[in-house]
Order: sequence, then structure tokens, then C-alpha cells
Amino acid sequence: MSPVIALQPAGCADVPVLRERGQREVFCGLTGIIWLHRKIQDAFFLVVGSRTCAHLLQSAAGVMIFAEPRFATAIIDERDLAGLADANEELDRVVTRLLERRPEIKLLFLVGSCPSEVIKLDLSRAATRLSAQFSPQVRVLNYSGSGIETTFTQGEDACLAALVPQLPASQASAGPDPLMVVGTLADVVEDQFARLFDQLGIPVQFFPPRRASEMPPVGPGTRYLLAQPFLADTARALEARGAQRVAAPFPLGVEGTTAWLQAAAEAFGVSPQRLEQVTAAPRERALSALAKQRVNLAGKSIFFFPDSQLEIPLARFLSREMGMRLTEVGTPYLHRQHLAQEIDWLPAGVQLSEGQHVEQQIDRCRALAPDIVVCGLGLANPLEAQGLTTKWAIELVFTPIQGYEQAADLAELFARPLNRRLRLAA
Ligand code: SF4
Repeated sequence: MSPVIALQPAGCADVPVLRERGQREVFCGLTGIIWLHRKIQDAFFLVVGSRTCAHLLQSAAGVMIFAEPRFATAIIDERDLAGLADANEELDRVVTRLLERRPEIKLLFLVGSCPSEVIKLDLSRAATRLSAQFSPQVRVLNYSGSGIETTFTQGEDACLAALVPQLPASQASAGPDPLMVVGTLADVVEDQFARLFDQLGIPVQFFPPRRASEMPPVGPGTRYLLAQPFLADTARALEARGAQRVAAPFPLGVEGTTAWLQAAAEAFGVSPQRLEQVTAAPRERALSALAKQRVNLAGKSIFFFPDSQLEIPLARFLSREMGMRLTEVGTPYLHRQHLAQEIDWLPAGVQLSEGQHVEQQIDRCRALAPDIVVCGLGLANPLEAQGLTTKWAIELVFTPIQGYEQAADLAELFARPLNRRLRLAA
């Protein structure tokens, strides 16, 4: 396969999309803390929420909780809700105690929740007040992870968008800005991409970084490449600081990874020959690993409930590289610009849906009887009980799936439940 892919402006504007509004079955943005706290290693996430929020985090983090976790919940109790206690005073007390006990914290996020929004606790004022008190040792920022009208990957978007105004300004005199890769990637994936960019001769910085002190500079000379498809607000905030997006599909599968690297190569004037030299070996390895998984997936039908916002790039990978048949591809939000190339790569006539009316969607799913359904945890068990094979959407966000080395692992995530169903039926 040639690495050079036609990255033309996409003509997706006329793809019909079924738009639905109704009851939704999704996790809230607090879930993002699970992968964000692992990425920014000197950051702490303090949820200002209820016991429900604390339970959500603890069950989502599960076994990952160890002696000194880097997230916690400041519980808003009945006294706060009834207005009997001054929630701001309590918050200041909790933060002071936390920062005394944990001097390694350099960046503290106050994370809003449904309860903090309901009592209209102004966390941005609290963050400004606490930042003034604790800077320069600690920066305090805030964002909302509330489940009111959001979906779980928007937690990362809100967190990164809150960080963008804090990024240092890039200096034109210091030469061209490095490429900024935007979106949390597992360290192992980030290291692989860093090596590939290095071989291509493209200087690169990742956002978010691993440490609060390593925030990448941004300015009118910055070109950024999205590594995740759910970062609309972050992209807007970067563009408000002058950065320009390098349009590309997302680095899922061999084709997506190659096109993503190619878009960066073109933006930085790297020749197609160099791209070919650098990507040939990992591409070949990934293609042969994928061939083994294709046997399990080709011809199988798949239905996506809207959940992670990864649905469209995943559907593109599964249909083009794995030969799967797309029935319906649901996504919570459809960002036509960021997903333009992805939509262009979907097979003609595919049913896209945006938003959710869960009962109607379940009816459509049952009628289509797909071989596998990608959905949230809340829907998985009931659908399994009705004989459908499911894959939890959240697992696709928690697992390293981007890049050449992970392409076959990504395919296997879909092959495994299908094989398990076959074994159970045998
Ligand atoms: S933020 Fe809202 S949706 Fe999320 S756990 Fe807390 S109460 Fe539930």
C-alpha cells in the first residue's frame, strides 16, 4: 500500500444525518479524569460534587486506586445544598488541607459537577481566588465535568480548553513552532509517535504534556494536529490564540495513521519519499497483524450507539480496513469540519445519527440485528440479555488504540466479543 493518500477537502456536507433528541444513556465528563490524571502526573483533580460523583469515579477508576490517588471529591452535602454552610469557605478549607498534605501538586483542577452547577457554585471565581493564594507553587483552574447535556469525552475537551489560556506564548524569534499534537494519548502511543515525528524531522510537542511545567507554547505560528475527535472547544481556544489546525483523519488503523502522519508531513514540507521510508516498516508490520484479525471481522455487521465521539473514525477503520458492514453509526455530536475526511471515507449510503433518543435507537438496533453493538455500559447488559453481542465504548477510550503498533489490538477489541459469542453458542 502506498503511504500517500489523497487528502482532499472532503465533500461530506450532503451526507444525510438522522438528528435525534431524547433520553440519552451516556457517562458524564467526570470520567475523563481517569485518563487525564494518569497523563499529567503532577496535576490533581478535585471534583466538587456529590457522593454519586465520588462513586462514579471510584467505580470507573476501579483497581487503579492506590495509596495516593490524584483525584478526589469534595462532597457537597445537605448543609451546602440548603445554603446553611458557605460552600466557598468549605472549599478553601479542603484545598488548603490538600495542598499542605500534597506538596507535589503543581496544577489543581476544580472540576464542576451537576450538584455544583445546581447550587450555582462559581468555581471559576474560586479558582482565581485560590490561584492567587497558592501561586506560583500551584496553579488552580476549573472546568465542568457535569453530566447535564454533556458526554464523557467532553470532560477532556473542557479540561484542555481551560488549560489553553495558560499556555505560554510562542516566540517568533525562536524559529518555527513545533507541531502540537492535541489530545491525550497513552504514554506508549505518544512515545511511538514522537519517534516517528523525529524520524520525519518534524519537531513535536504534545498537549496535554506529562508535567504541568512542560506546557507547549502557542501562537500564530503554531500548527496543531488533533489526536482525538472530541476536542471542539480546545480547538476553538487554540485558534483564538492564533494556532492553525492541520486537517487530517484520526490515527486509527493503518490508513488513518498514515494519513495523519502524511498531513503533518505535508504541513512541514517533508517529502513523500521520506514519509515512505519512515512508515514502510511499521505499516507492513501492522498490515500483516491486521490481516489475522480481518478473518474474524470481515462481513460482520456493526451498530454504534452514540457515546465516545470516536464512533465515526472507528466505523471508517472497521469498514475500510476490516471489511465490516456498518448498519448505523451514532455519535453524540457531529463536528463536520474535524470529521470531514473521516465522513468522506465512509461507504456511500451509511446511516449516520447524531444525538440520541434511546428507545427509538434500541428499536432500530433490534430490527437490524447486527453482529456486534458498540454502546455504553448501561445498555450493554440489557442488549446482551436479548442476544446481541456488545462492546463497551468506554474501553475504546481507556485502551491504547492509536497508531500502527496498536492497529491489530484495536481490531481485536471487536473480534474478542464476537469470538466469545461463537464459543458460547457452540
Ligand atoms: S457530575 Fe452529574 S452525572 Fe456525573 S456523577 Fe456527578 S451527579 Fe452524576
